[in-house]
Amino acid sequence: MEIIQARRLKQLPPYLFAQIDRMKQEVKAQGADIIDLGIGDPDQPTPEHIIEKLRQAGGNGENHRYPSYEGMAAFREAVAQWYGKRFNVALDPRDEVVSLIGSKEGIAHIPLAFVNPGERVLVPSPGYPVYKTSTLFAGGIQEIMPLTRENGFLPDFSKIPEKALSEARLMFLNYPNNPTSAVAEPAFFEEAVAMAKTSNIIICHDCAYSEIAFDGYRPVSFLEVSGARDVCIEFHSLSKTYNMTGWRIGFAVGNRDIVAGLGKIKTNIDSGIFQAVQWAGVAALQGDQQCVERMRKIYQERRDVLAAGLKSAGLDFDLPRATFYLWVCVPRGYNASEFTMHLLQKAGIVTTPGSGFGEEGEGYIRMALTVDKERMQEAVERIKKVGF
Ligand SMILES: *Cc1c(COP(=O)(O)O)cnc(C)c1O
Repeated sequence: MEIIQARRLKQLPPYLFAQIDRMKQEVKAQGADIIDLGIGDPDQPTPEHIIEKLRQAGGNGENHRYPSYEGMAAFREAVAQWYGKRFNVALDPRDEVVSLIGSKEGIAHIPLAFVNPGERVLVPSPGYPVYKTSTLFAGGIQEIMPLTRENGFLPDFSKIPEKALSEARLMFLNYPNNPTSAVAEPAFFEEAVAMAKTSNIIICHDCAYSEIAFDGYRPVSFLEVSGARDVCIEFHSLSKTYNMTGWRIGFAVGNRDIVAGLGKIKTNIDSGIFQAVQWAGVAALQGDQQCVERMRKIYQERRDVLAAGLKSAGLDFDLPRATFYLWVCVPRGYNASEFTMHLLQKAGIVTTPGSGFGEEGEGYIRMALTVDKERMQEAVERIKKVGF
């Protein structure tokens, strides 16, 4: 029998990180010492008090059964409390919060709730690849919003074609931004709210990096802006904030009808997050936040080592105020893939070509701050040695 994939699978580009992983394995097999600045996965362990909570809760039989779809009340209350403290935004834990099996899960599912086949979704490029693939899975059509350095890597709403605006159901935004590390000020979010209201577009704001910021800067929540609750769902993750990428826990908050639509999809697909992991999430959100402060310091030190090194090597980039990425201009004579291959084959350094985040990412590579200071220094030395 011939196994034939559905058209929606054939439409997909190869998943970027799987491809890079293959290249990395090849170079490794030749015996090279690899410094991996490729994937955005924190290298530090989850803080001990969170692990301890999982140990306790994992041993309790009450947690071994199906969890509730929308997340335990205790977890949703912890989210609402954290939001109140962190952003001064009051949320009703009963219907303005839903738990997610990582924010990627929610982002991948939301178009199924609000986009009919043939309808449009406004997607930033470069951007987190899931915005595009989730749009395709729902049968939607992506309308690209280019993020350019001249515009601070913010979309220019005035450049969206009138027809696309009138046909769009959703818009994805992501600040602090992966991969560009750009941040957005409240004035930009206010502009987005106004546009969303005029054109009847739901804003999906991906806020996965709200806690990874430097030099005392504290990113805002989209929901801090007046009127945002009428148009917005905001996605958060415990992955980056508490080094919990493997645990699969995140949440979405905001407009109750949007939250309910996503919830309806989820009740038909998954059965929630293991309760012991939700209790660990409660411990993370309610516990001492010193661990987050320590992590910010670690990334900031690495950022400073890498930035100083790249600068003296003659590479051009903006110093990130948030996220754990540097978005670096590719030097003359290379495209993004070629420069990535150059660094991998000549210096044993894994980076991500910007073009993997969408055509508009061509001309850049992304370097993640996910190795320690000493390795970062080693990476800098190697780049200076091999040149470009
Ligand atoms: C890491 C990341 C996520 C996904 O995080 P989860 O582990 O699924 O919670 C979402 N958006 C962006 C932009 C990310 O970089």
